[in-house]
Amino acid sequence: MVTEVHSDAVAISAELTELRRAIHREPEIGFELPRTQEKVLAALDGLPLEITTGRALTSVTAVLRGARPGQTVLLRGDMDALPVTERTGLAYASQVDGAMHACGHDLHTAMLAGAARLLSSRQPELSGNVIFMFQPGEEEGGGARVMISEGVLDAAGSRPVAAFGLHVASSLLPFGIYSARDGTMLAAADTLEITVHGRGGHGSQPHRADDPIPAACHIVTALQTLVTRRFDVFDPVVITVGSFHAGTASNVIPDEAELAVTVRSFSPAARAAVQDAALRLVRDIASAHGLSATAEFVDGYPLTVNNSGEVAVAERAVTELFGSQRFLRTPDPITGSEDFSYVLEQVPGAFIMLGACPPGADPATAPFNHAAEAVFDDAVLADGATLLTELALRRLAAG
Ligand SMILES: [Zn+2]
Ligand SMILES: [Zn+2]
Repeated sequence: MVTEVHSDAVAISAELTELRRAIHREPEIGFELPRTQEKVLAALDGLPLEITTGRALTSVTAVLRGARPGQTVLLRGDMDALPVTERTGLAYASQVDGAMHACGHDLHTAMLAGAARLLSSRQPELSGNVIFMFQPGEEEGGGARVMISEGVLDAAGSRPVAAFGLHVASSLLPFGIYSARDGTMLAAADTLEITVHGRGGHGSQPHRADDPIPAACHIVTALQTLVTRRFDVFDPVVITVGSFHAGTASNVIPDEAELAVTVRSFSPAARAAVQDAALRLVRDIASAHGLSATAEFVDGYPLTVNNSGEVAVAERAVTELFGSQRFLRTPDPITGSEDFSYVLEQVPGAFIMLGACPPGADPATAPFNHAAEAVFDDAVLADGATLLTELALRRLAAG
């Protein structure tokens, strides 16, 4: 059974590669991915699946009902690309200006379609249901949350007992290595928006104005100090002021300074603490300068938290299928974030990274996800489809 799934996956790997490259050539961004949805529906055509498509987004939800009753497992693949102009020089590079599958979601889509094929052919011996969640809008907008609101978790009639998502990496992880950890797998990523309100004037007479720029500069440096003085090094936060805008000319004091800050955290406690401390710090520094500031946190994706039992299921599957050297228990969470977090808030599961570093490239230095030069080796597709399939089979067999 174990090797049978893998050999079946290898047998369809040419088709999976073709699907992946077709999606790669024609990347689409955001919630509206009609061409990608078309390709997914074509790949699922003829399989014994109940298929529904999204209303607010071009999602595809496919349900496979096993011949025997049982529990439900959810498998997820995201489908959206990024606003990046591809510079890989690949034969199947993006043909759409300003759009690229730079995060490997084209591989996720192909692997999930592969798992749908492999599991469909096992329908007669399957006890329970599998939900295949083909999701737009991961990079921005939280498509997973929209699919949840449109009912993906209830698509089979009973809530999934486990949910799994795979994510490829073009570097850092060597090719074919699966990686996960218990608990926090990815950060929560929130945005802090700040406006320091001053009073404009002539640059030669700053005492007759209220200059927001020095106060805003203090806020930037104080936020960096906050990281080291207020937070445990073993439960850290990341604060980056990515945008700082004020003023128009050297001799004009502006009315306002605007900052946008990404704030990442790895525990609910640190997330709450950093929000509280950062807001207070911004307001009090402005006030110390005789100014005022408005500051607001805009919630981004929450923590992606893996269930230790489901990580153990994945580790066992990888070890038995591919060998123990193929599974890495990563000591550290990833500082990126994921909207699969919304699924894992409701269903125990695991989000697993998969190395797809191309041959000849050094994982330590190869361009990482989101880079215009990032290359993902699609030789990994059969293995990825195998693991998704096995996770569903093993989880349903466990009852
Ligand atoms: Zn991404
Ligand atoms: Zn991604």
